[in-house]
Amino acid sequence: MSLLWNRMNSTLTKSTIEFRHDTYSAGTASFTVSDLWNLETSVRTTWPGPGQMALFYLFVHGTYAPDSSVIGLAYYGSSIAVFPSTIASAAGGSSDAVTSTVMIHEFGHELGLVGIVGSAPNEDPAHPYHSADPNDVMYWAVDTTALLSGLLGGGPPTQFGAADMSDLSTVRSTIIPLEILPWVVLAAALVGALAVVILIRRRRTT
Ligand SMILES: [Zn+2]
Repeated sequence: MSLLWNRMNSTLTKSTIEFRHDTYSAGTASFTVSDLWNLETSVRTTWPGPGQMALFYLFVHGTYAPDSSVIGLAYYGSSIAVFPSTIASAAGGSSDAVTSTVMIHEFGHELGLVGIVGSAPNEDPAHPYHSADPNDVMYWAVDTTALLSGLLGGGPPTQFGAADMSDLSTVRSTIIPLEILPWVVLAAALVGALAVVILIRRRRTT
């Protein structure tokens, strides 16, 4: 948690960062994205708002249904799942280090790093939204047990590389079309509705 806090503090421009921790009952041991979402929305109380980033990390005692090698997943814009049982069975004594790496990696996805927002020179063409650099926490193998296949020589990566930090400044200055799209559509609909009202009124008055 302290390592995650450090990485958040070095990438976000927030005056305070607060962690809350709760325990929930899941009722299943194999999770689809919709299972994760249903569990999250039944218990989550803090969501992103103007000027506030809120992230929800769900540590589940089970596996990711579509791919049991997945150890971490950023499944929606502020929603992260971590699979500690999968980490423990694959990483053994390195579980804590791998968990730290996964938590920071998924946070990086939520920031929009490595091509999710804008383009990133360190993006691995074979693995979209991931770095090709094994020393970068955004390295592509971090999402699954592939991370553990001979990559633990110097321990799993926990640092955002220089390319990520430069990417972060791109993210900061980019207006995210998907975020503003609903407002554009709504504005167009309102203008359209107004035009129809004006046309109808004109017809009636002429
Ligand atoms: Zn990833």
